[in-house]
This record gives sequence, structure tokens and C-alpha cells, in this order.
Amino acid sequence: MEVLESLEIKDLRKIYKAENGDVLALKDVNLTVQPGEFVCIVGASGCGKSTLLRLIVGLESDYLGEIKLGDKILDGPSINRGMVFQEARLFPWLTVEENISFGLVDNKLSSKERSRIINEHIELVNLNGFAKSYPHQLSGGMQQRVSIARALVNYPKILLLDEPFGALDALTRLQMQQEFLRIWEKERTTVLLVTHDVDEAMYLADRIVVLSSRPGTISKIINVKATRPRDRNSPVFTEIKREIYKVLFKEEDQLIEYVI
Ligand code: ADP
Repeated sequence: MEVLESLEIKDLRKIYKAENGDVLALKDVNLTVQPGEFVCIVGASGCGKSTLLRLIVGLESDYLGEIKLGDKILDGPSINRGMVFQEARLFPWLTVEENISFGLVDNKLSSKERSRIINEHIELVNLNGFAKSYPHQLSGGMQQRVSIARALVNYPKILLLDEPFGALDALTRLQMQQEFLRIWEKERTTVLLVTHDVDEAMYLADRIVVLSSRPGTISKIINVKATRPRDRNSPVFTEIKREIYKVLFKEEDQLIEYVI
């Protein structure tokens, strides 16, 4: 198991060069994520949530500011950061175990050791018995479990998830949130999860980071101290939700009064 390190983002700014002018996507983002912490990022569509994850995972290198994991400045993608997208992005011609194996990049492992790690991850995401199945034989939730296993197979120091449950039906989404907490509690990696679902963030996160609309900057950080598993109907949740909606809607000047 890797030693976890803190993620430090300092004065981050991202400008996209576009034909009809530059787009300032992120501005003055400062955030430190503690080792093993679960942070959710919420914000309106287009506020730069995916951009932030892409910068951290190393898919984009053209930015201003600094992103550090421990004392190392991040430079390009690395196996110490795993990524899960909204769509499972599995290879349709590979089985579950082959898809997970594809993510396991350590070529020095013996085939016995590879199989052990792959089986351990199939078990971790509760897909025992489906190792030889192909993606089309699995439900959307099961496919997403495979992509989570694939992202964890290198024991990353940090796991980044971009709307991982956004394409699932409402019931499966709730189940997957519960499942993901179980996985996180077992793996204890640092998690940064982007969602536009405020309830999801409240159910999962140690801290919720609210991004303003473009240019994305941190408007508010909310500590969620409630113990897990959390009661989705708790009055505290209603309070937190009101706080977050206030931030999200106020800046668009369309604050709605919620009577509960
Ligand atoms: P979110 O994930 O919050 O919906 P994104 O990070 O995808 O937001 O995008 C933030 C802003 O940057 C949006 O206005 C989007 O149009 C713009 N953007 C994203 N990618 C590019 C790109 N490759 N070129 C130009 N603009 C982009």
C-alpha cells in the first residue's frame, strides 16, 4: 500500500485558447486535500470542475500555479493518480479481468502476482463471478464498478472521479454511492470527486468545495462532520443544502426561496 500524501493546489489558473477568444476556466484556486480525505467538488455546469480534475490527473499541462502531491510538483499523468469518468470507458472486446489487467501497468509483476491483484480488485468492487464477462453483459452500475477497480489497481495515492454516477439511474446511483463508501473505507485512498448532485456530495464527502460559475474559483468550503453512514433525510442535510444552493444560485442572481 502506498503512503498517502497531501494534494496542494496553489493559485491555479487555467486559460483555454479558443478561436473566438480566450476562456478563463479556473482562477485563483487554492486547496489542500489531506491524505485519505474525501473531497467533493460541486458547481454549475461549465464552471471548470472537469478542468480541475484534468489538471490534477495530468491530462493538461498548460496552466499557471502549482499542483503538488506531497513535496513533488505534478508533471504529466502517473500511476499514482487514478481516474474514473462518467462513462465506464471499458474495452468492449475485453472481459472484466482483462479490462482491469489493462490498467495494471507494472510489467515486472509475475503472472501469479498480476492475477492475485486483479482478483483482489474484482472482489473489492463485488464482481465475484463476473471476471470472464464482457462489458455488454453487465449493467451500467457493474460497468462502473469495473472502471473503479481499474482505477484502483495500481494502488494510487489519489483517486479522481468526474461525475462517476451521473449516467446511472437514480436507484443505482444511490446504491453505488453506498458501495463506493465501502470501497473507500477499505482502500483509504485520497478521493476527489466531482458532482453536480449536492445530495451525493453531502452523503459522501468530508468536505464539500463549492465552485463559482466561470471563471471557476472556490466560493465556499463546507465541512461535513456527520458520521457515516449518513441519514439522507437528516435536518443537518437540509441546512447544508440550503447553504450550498445559496452560493450556487445567488451568484447567478436567481436565489430561490425554499420552504421546507
Ligand atoms: P464543468 O466540468 O464544470 O462542466 P469544464 O471544466 O468542462 O466545466 O469547462 C470549463 C469551461 O472551460 C467551460 O466554459 C468550457 O466551455 C471551457 N472549456 C473546456 N474545455 C475547453 C477547450 N478544450 N477549449 C476551450 N474551452 C474549453
